[in-house]
Amino acid sequence: MLWAMKKLKWKDYDLIFSYLDELFPNADTELHYGTPFQLLTAVILSAQTTDKQVNKVTDGLFKKIRNPEDILKMWHKAFENAIKSIGLYKWKAKHIYETSKILAENGWIIPKEEKELIKLPWVWEKTAKVVLYVLYNKPVIAVDTHVHRICNRLWIVQTKTPLQTSKLLEERIPQQYKAIAHHCIILFWRYHCTARNPKCDNCHLSTLCLYYSKNYKKCQK
Ligand code: SF4
Repeated sequence: MLWAMKKLKWKDYDLIFSYLDELFPNADTELHYGTPFQLLTAVILSAQTTDKQVNKVTDGLFKKIRNPEDILKMWHKAFENAIKSIGLYKWKAKHIYETSKILAENGWIIPKEEKELIKLPWVWEKTAKVVLYVLYNKPVIAVDTHVHRICNRLWIVQTKTPLQTSKLLEERIPQQYKAIAHHCIILFWRYHCTARNPKCDNCHLSTLCLYYSKNYKKCQK
């Protein structure tokens, strides 16, 4: 069945973000970190891995590693071993080393612009946006498959790929919600609007939701 395209109105965005804010007040990153470099490291480690898994590793590791020099002083193999429970650990270790070298040469400064951040090894657009949002409060939204799914379920975008969503999302979300959007959407997909068995019976957004229209409304007829 074809579903008519829907364009959200201001009141719809108000409903979405006031609800997300109510569900997850003071939403913040779930990655543990103490210094800007630790955040960058944790975000790089979190690619294709859960934040929980990263925290298990970094809770111990970050007692020894606070800045790029600490990584460079560590034996590469020892660093690899310390993160080996994380997917793609060899690649991540290699690129975190290379990133550390670059940052050590530049006074440990984590770049404040996306175009500079993505020059660092293994820092893609999504990683850069997480760092910009968390460290520098920039009004950006990192898009992965989950954020893509939520935004399509709620008609914020109607796109086929996360890349397409990423290109549209920041212009779609009203300015007043950009400060909270990134973390609220992440916590929403993680704990409420999950890929399987989302909590639709207990969701205030069902009137807006494409997934709900397709899967529940027709059952109630
Ligand atoms: S109604 Fe269900 S699918 Fe739709 S936003 Fe709420 S939890 Fe997600």
